[in-house]
Amino acid sequence: MYKNLFRALENNNIKPYYAENKAKALEIVKELLFENAVITGGGSVSVNQIGVNDLLKNGNYNYFDRNKKGISADEQLNVFKATVGADFYFCSTNALTENGELINVDGNSNRISAIAFGPKKVIMIVGKNKIVKNVEEGILRVKKTAAPLNCERLGIDNPCRKLGHCISLENNDNPSMTDGCNCLTRICRNYLISGKQKDKDRINLILVDEDLGY
Ligand code: SF4
Repeated sequence: MYKNLFRALENNNIKPYYAENKAKALEIVKELLFENAVITGGGSVSVNQIGVNDLLKNGNYNYFDRNKKGISADEQLNVFKATVGADFYFCSTNALTENGELINVDGNSNRISAIAFGPKKVIMIVGKNKIVKNVEEGILRVKKTAAPLNCERLGIDNPCRKLGHCISLENNDNPSMTDGCNCLTRICRNYLISGKQKDKDRINLILVDEDLGY
């Protein structure tokens, strides 16, 4: 069913895996990891939904958990530092194009940094709801779905939280990629579009045939 998409991902040196459901996705994750691996992640809803956090907390791994209850600013900084040399980094993607491109937008930019460079392997957990036709649709997906729902989840009062879409879409159907609010709390700051990768199979993308995250 995803033959063309998988071919496009392989052509971009991204290794695709198919999982019909969350349980199968977790099985694939277990097979990719090894004991004592240094592991971090970007705090993704999709990753949480398939049960990776529980697996990492209870398994024999060196897991640096940035969402640990009561984590201090110093500890969080250590997580970000550990990420550069980690064996595995878990995240999702804001959008996946039919052409095998990954579109990600960040406020802090620690996630897009890790996707682009650092951890030996990136494991992406991606629900079928993240698939879009092309980069333009991916950018719109961020403005209409990912950013408003992430603001809601994080309790950040940016305009998109109330409007249900980016303020750049008010009176403009075709805003530029970086158009948006002027808030200090803006979560759309740096934009990463990942095409053909230098390190073959560094990014492993598990496509789950269910809706996950946003
Ligand atoms: S630029 Fe601002 S209003 Fe637009 S989606 Fe991002 S956080 Fe929301």
